This record gives sequence, structure tokens and C-alpha cells, in this order.
Amino acid sequence: MHRTPSPSSLLPQIIHMHPQAAPKPAMGAACNGCGLCCLAEPCPVGVLLSRSRSGPCKALRWDALQQQYRCGALGSGLQASLVGRWIAAGKGCDCDLEVDLSPTIESLLPPASKPPHD
Ligand code: SF4
Ligand code: SF4
Repeated sequence: MHRTPSPSSLLPQIIHMHPQAAPKPAMGAACNGCGLCCLAEPCPVGVLLSRSRSGPCKALRWDALQQQYRCGALGSGLQASLVGRWIAAGKGCDCDLEVDLSPTIESLLPPASKPPHD
């Protein structure tokens, strides 16, 4: 994942991951399908499939058997070579995001105190 620094990219981003997802490995280590990169923002192919440049990629799929995230674009007829970011394929992790696992204020509130969702 190549990232151009921008004011918004310097701000913390809350990303909701599957509770069984593996922690993100160090950059350069084998991709373990943690999904962080694709949950943070879509790759160029993901931008087309998601019709958005931000937020989680709509093509991202959770594989319950493998306990990994997978790229759903590969099952849509696209060739792997067209998907710039091919997660969980044994390649090195190229995601430079830093993970802070500190709980959010909302997650610490008892259920009755949580604000209602629309
Ligand atoms: S490339 Fe993406 S899915 Fe793979 S380990 Fe890195 S952050 Fe996780
Ligand atoms: S690799 Fe696949 S799931 Fe990840 S952002 Fe690209 S298209 Fe989406």
C-alpha cells in the first residue's frame, strides 16, 4: 500500500476488525490476512468496486474457515495481476499503518449508557 501523506491521513482512524482477525504483522512480514489495509481504505481496484476512495473496501470478505480476510475482487472475474493489493497471498505486508489497540470510550461504557444508533 502506497500512501501520500495528507492532513487527514495524519489523524487517527478507528477501524473495526473481526474479533478473530490476527494482529497486523510488521511491515515486510508475510501477509496474514488481518485485513487492516483494506479496512482502512480501498486499493485502486477497490476504489472502483467500492465506488469510494475512503472507508473499508466493499470487496473485502471474512473467511471464517481460514480466520482471515480475503480479497473478494479475485472471485469477481478479475485477474490477480489487476488487483494491486492481494492480501493473504504470502506476500510481504506493505501496510505502514500503526495500530493502537486502546479501547475507545464508547466500548468502555455499559450497554445501557451507549448512545442509540440510528
Ligand atoms: S497486507 Fe494488509 S491484510 Fe496483509 S498483513 Fe498487511 S495489513 Fe494485513
Ligand atoms: S485488495 Fe481486494 S479487498 Fe483489498 S482493497 Fe483491493 S480490491 Fe478491496
